[in-house]
Amino acid sequence: MKVDIKELENFLDDHIQDLVDLRRELHKKAELSGDEKKTAEFVIKVLKETNPDKIIENVGGCGVIAVYGEEKSGPDLMIRAELDALPIPDSPDLEYASENPDTGHKCGHDGHMTIVLGVARWLGENKPPKGRVYLLFQPAEETGEGAARILKDEKFSEISPYMAMALHNLPGYPAHSVIVREGTFTSASVGIEMKLKGTSSHAGYPEDGRSPAAAMAQIVNMLPGIAAQEFPRSTNALITIIHASVGKRAFGTTPGNAVVMATLRANSNEVLKEMKTHVLKRCRAIAESWGLTFSEDFVEPFDATINDDSCVDILTEAAEKLDLKIIRPDNPFPWSEDFGAFSQKFTGLLFCLGSGKEHPQLHHPDYDFPDELLQTGIKLFLLQLHKYWQQAQN
Ligand SMILES: [Zn+2]
Ligand SMILES: [Zn+2]
Repeated sequence: MKVDIKELENFLDDHIQDLVDLRRELHKKAELSGDEKKTAEFVIKVLKETNPDKIIENVGGCGVIAVYGEEKSGPDLMIRAELDALPIPDSPDLEYASENPDTGHKCGHDGHMTIVLGVARWLGENKPPKGRVYLLFQPAEETGEGAARILKDEKFSEISPYMAMALHNLPGYPAHSVIVREGTFTSASVGIEMKLKGTSSHAGYPEDGRSPAAAMAQIVNMLPGIAAQEFPRSTNALITIIHASVGKRAFGTTPGNAVVMATLRANSNEVLKEMKTHVLKRCRAIAESWGLTFSEDFVEPFDATINDDSCVDILTEAAEKLDLKIIRPDNPFPWSEDFGAFSQKFTGLLFCLGSGKEHPQLHHPDYDFPDELLQTGIKLFLLQLHKYWQQAQN
């Protein structure tokens, strides 16, 4: 079967103003990771109007899955959007500013949801000829917890996608350009929080305590170099210091505790695992050399996102049909995406859509999703779905 681009454009012309309004409604509802109740309710309401064959609610928290099509041998395809916003205040002069203080859609997830709701509208009128399409609205992307929770939820085991895809908008690139690469697209990463415990003392008698200050300084100095000097450049290993603190604002007391936090990144889960072992070994040795107790916690883990070659081909074909500029970065992006967890489990594709070269960066206080990308995102997803259906029918 063939998708008629003209027909698709007419459909979008009819729906676009309503979709822009939907995006703004979602923008107003901005909710933090893990607490996306009202957003999910709204998404469910819009999905119901499209008569899906099934809606699965409360998956991995506030997650929602709409199912289109019946069991017919064919590719079961999943498209993912994210429900959560960020703890960043919205621009107050925006007419559709967030109604929740200190919470804003500063990563464009309101736009991604609207794109997938646009796909839902099309699927409501054009049921898949083969297999099923699952539209997943996942919670808690920003903290890297949502995808893992979805995968663990029993309700998710009801569905078994052959492949999963998602897009993210990306400032700094021309609007409507498609950014994609085969293999690793975004890095694996994890936060490490290290605690150094010594003993406090009177500041006049530092020799009677055990201050962790020097060990903390040594660790902060050493950590970034481990990535640069001990891992080949091809691994994209990177260690960034996030936070370091020692003692309290008490001039009569030497400190007894210190904390160092850093983020580790690499282009594969395997390299990241090696980095974790290496970092722990080195930092623990420093702490012990100063007679301190050392403990660690790993937080906010993200898998690397791995793109399947044939999925990249299908996306490229869709982008070419729409005359979109295709940009293929030489290296994986240093940032991480929760979608990595899906790409480790299913055939996966994550790609970006340029938000404009001068558009404020993601997570910047002035960022707002560019509505002009809605149509492009919907068309790209639908053209890809049609290609998978076409392949299944041949
Ligand atoms: Zn983000
Ligand atoms: Zn995001």
